[in-house]
This record gives sequence, C-alpha cells and structure tokens, in this order.
Amino acid sequence: MNLANWLHQSGLTRPDAPALYFGHKLHARYSQFAHRSCAIGRHLMEQYGIKPGDRVALFARNCPEYLEVLYGVLWVGAVIVPVNNKLHPREAAWIVENAQADVVITETGDLYSNTDDLKHPAQELGLHSEELSEVARHGSAGSYFPPAETRGDQTAWLFYTSGTTGRPKGVMTTHDNLRMMATSYALDVDTVTPQDVALYAAPMSHGAGLYNFQFVRAGAAHVIPPSCGFDPAEIEGLGRSLGNLVFFAAPTMIKRLLVHAEATGWRGEGIKSVTYGGGPMYLADINHALDVFGPKFIQIYGQGESPMTITAMPRDIVADTTHPRADARRASVGFAQSCVEVRIVDTNMNEVAPGQVGEIVVRGDTVMAGYWRNPEATTETIVDGWLRTGDLGAMDTDGFVTLTDRSKDVIISGGTNIYPREVEEVLLNHEDIFETAVIGAPHPEWGEEVIAFVVVGKDCQLDKDSLDAWCKSQIASFKKPRRYIFMSELPKNSYGKVLKTSLRERLSLMEDHSESV
Ligand code: ATP
Repeated sequence: MNLANWLHQSGLTRPDAPALYFGHKLHARYSQFAHRSCAIGRHLMEQYGIKPGDRVALFARNCPEYLEVLYGVLWVGAVIVPVNNKLHPREAAWIVENAQADVVITETGDLYSNTDDLKHPAQELGLHSEELSEVARHGSAGSYFPPAETRGDQTAWLFYTSGTTGRPKGVMTTHDNLRMMATSYALDVDTVTPQDVALYAAPMSHGAGLYNFQFVRAGAAHVIPPSCGFDPAEIEGLGRSLGNLVFFAAPTMIKRLLVHAEATGWRGEGIKSVTYGGGPMYLADINHALDVFGPKFIQIYGQGESPMTITAMPRDIVADTTHPRADARRASVGFAQSCVEVRIVDTNMNEVAPGQVGEIVVRGDTVMAGYWRNPEATTETIVDGWLRTGDLGAMDTDGFVTLTDRSKDVIISGGTNIYPREVEEVLLNHEDIFETAVIGAPHPEWGEEVIAFVVVGKDCQLDKDSLDAWCKSQIASFKKPRRYIFMSELPKNSYGKVLKTSLRERLSLMEDHSESV
C-alpha cells in the first residue's frame, strides 16, 4: 500500500490535468508529475543505492520539485525526511543525523548567498548530498515503472515535530497513517475535488506538506507561490486568477491576511477554504476573520504524532451563530475526526466527566507507529494503544473539545492551576494588544507567578495599571499577571509558533541581570 500509487493512478486517469504550478506558470501535468517522480526514484536508487526503508532527507524551500522528489522517494519504497529549510544548518544537521539519512537533497539557492561560513546540513555531516535542481534534472530519464510495493505499516514520512517544547522528535508516520489522514480530510475537513487548487503558503516540511496527498489522489492542482512562502498579496493574485484555492495557515498567517484585506479591500475572492491549526486561534480573531472573509475557515487540531488528525471544526459549525452555544463551539477545536477516538483522562488514564479538564488522548488509524530510535519515549507516549498528546482540554456532552493548554505550560500558583490560554485570550481582547504569551515563573511563596509578554499595536501605549484593571474586569484576581513585559515581537519558531521556552530563558536572563521589567 504505497501512497505513491495515488500519483501513479492520477497520472493514468487524468494525464493532462494541471498538476503543479509555480505561481501562474504550469510546471507539470499529472502524467509528467508521475513520470518525473518515477525517474527521480530511479536516480536515487542508481546513484545512491537507495532501497526500501532508507531515509532521504529533503532540505528545501517550497517548490514544485519538492513534491516530485517527495513522491520519487516514496516511489521506490524509501522514507522521506523533510527538514524545514528555515532551520539553521546545524539544527537541520541534527535532524539529518538523528534520522540516519542516507542522502540529503538540498536547495541552497539563495539561502546562503551572504553567509559564506555556513555549510548546509550534509556538508556539516559529510554525507552524500545533491542539489535539488540536479536531482530534478534526472526527472525525465528512463522507462516508467509503477511504485514499489510497500506494506501500509511501513514508514513513509519521518516527520520531525516543530520543537516547541524541546528538541524536535522524529515521528514514524506510515503509509496507512497518511492514507487515513487524507481520507479523514475529505470526510471531516472539506470536500476534495479535481477542481481544487492546493496552495502551499506554509513550509511543506510540516502540516501543509502532509496535506498534499488528498489533492494528488483527486487529481487537483498544486500551486507554489513565487515567494515560496506566505505573502497575502500573492495569495490574492493567485486566488483571482486560478480560483478555488485551498490552503493550510497558521493562526498568525490569518492575522496577516486580515491586515492585507483591511489595506486593500480584498475579501478572499478566489479562496475556497483555509484550514488552520497548530496553535491557538483566539475567539476575537476567528470572529474577525469570519466577518471579513465569510465561512471559509476550518479549524483542525492535531500533532505530528497523529498527523494533523485529532479533532476538526467544520465550516458550517464555525459559521453558525444561531446555536445557543455558538461561541463556546467556535472557541473549541471541534470534535473527533472520523478515524480516531478522543478521550479526556486523568493522570491514571481514567476518563473524566464532561466539562472537566484532563489530558487529551487519542486512538485510531492516524496514530504514529512510534518515535524513531526512541522506544522509551514511544512507551511513555502510547499507553494501551492511546496516544498521550500532552495537551490539556475538556470535552462537552456533544463531543466538542476545548483546549486549555499544553500540560507543560500550565501555571500552578498557590496550588491552583492557571491556564495561560485563558489569560492570553483576555489580554488579546484588549484592542491595543496585538500579540501576547503568558508563562509561569518560579515564585518563592506561590510556587509560580503569572508573567505576560505583550506586543502592543503601533502607536499604542499601555501600562501595568491599565492592564491590571482590564484583566481584573474579566478574570479572577489570582490569574492576573504579576508582571507585563513589553516586546516588539514574540520569539517564534520557523512554523510561526510562539516559543515559550525562549521566553522562559529570556526571563531568567533578565532576572540574573536584575533588569527591571
Ligand atoms: P514539539 O512536540 O517538538 O514540542 P510541537 O508540539 O509544536 O513541537 P507539532 O506536532 O508541530 O509539535 O504541533 C502539535 C501541537 O500544536 C499540539 O500538540 C498542540 O499543542 C498544538 N496545536 C495543534 N493544533 C492546535 C489548535 N487548533 N489550537 C491550539 N493548539 C494547537
């Protein structure tokens, strides 16, 4: 059950359908896409002796060749290891080494033009490497053969988590996991049709790239914006010309789309749907996005360990304002997707009552085979078939799950749990606050105290007293931040997720140097 069969099939049934665009320029139709991937797979076998199960790392920007190489690797039964090209080469080298990759395909393009001293990850490690453009040049050689046979439980994609809580972890994602993820997308997230145009605005090495499979299966087009990343003006242009765009966006990207819409008057014409997740989307922001763009948004909650498939919040429910619990539902991450079961449990893995907070656990077809070369972490994380997500949340009687926080981020002050998300939500409702992140800092008497890092809007001025008054008007006094630290922006990883680990380090440095905050 090799996933590359989906491309093989679309190449046969829709040979002339547009498959890959770079901006407005057509790069390949489906038959070409399939043939090029097959030829790239052959090249990897012949040049580097790649066999089924071997790992091929791909360190590149989003581009049409990215998908050709990805399928080329799968075509011959090998394992793709996408590495975010925004990582520092040394961070990338750590992943490549951890994955024990046999070859690294790199796209150094203009990445290192001004950084002579930086080596790319393969150079750091002295491994076989080849430029993506070189590999792509082999995409037309030799006769065509169907994808290698693989079992469904074989790893297809060694997925490295984004490293929000520590070192990235290598998740063994199987052909079956991804097949079920793609099937579940069509059942739970959005319709998938040959007329869709899947756009890649977020790095393909993460969730956005995982979401390619259902569109290849449907014979839909894929478009890579010329900036190879996220640029609202490009999305507007591609939406107006190609239409029917579907894409994955991190919540911060939706905020930037809104800023663009405000400046230009664009109202999302040409966008079919936007799937968002990966980090908290606050109620005020989703309400604003719905007002401006209409019912185009679907929230998903997932993690590398159950690739992007734990719960989903369908468009019609997000947009429904008539339901008596409409706001609570909108603030939730939806309900269990069709191929998994979701429960909320206490520390002994016993299910808790509806409405009570506990750890979210998930069981089903998308749950990973385990962590790569880390059986201890696998045993800790998958307990009796249930994946412990490390996320805390509550489920209502209708099955809607509201995330409270990551268990590692919960602040325990005076023996009481404070969920940073709740405090962040209150701060974000303040019209002058653009971004915020709340963490706990050690406190001699209370155990921990609440600290808020705050980014205020341009030309806005806020002080502790006014923020205290704002918080006190909405949450219990013990949850109110003891300190506010004003910043021009929050530290984020290359997927746009706020790095609370960096904020903790920054705070302890400030304290070491007795800086007043
Ligand atoms: P690491 O595990 O290396 O620390 P990471 O947790 O960011 O990195 P990912 O798999 O990239 O790893 O992200 C999954 C996490 O992102 C989830 O466990 C959850 O905490 C958060 N997340 C995912 N979707 C949502 C969502 N819709 N709302 C809020 N948070 C989300």
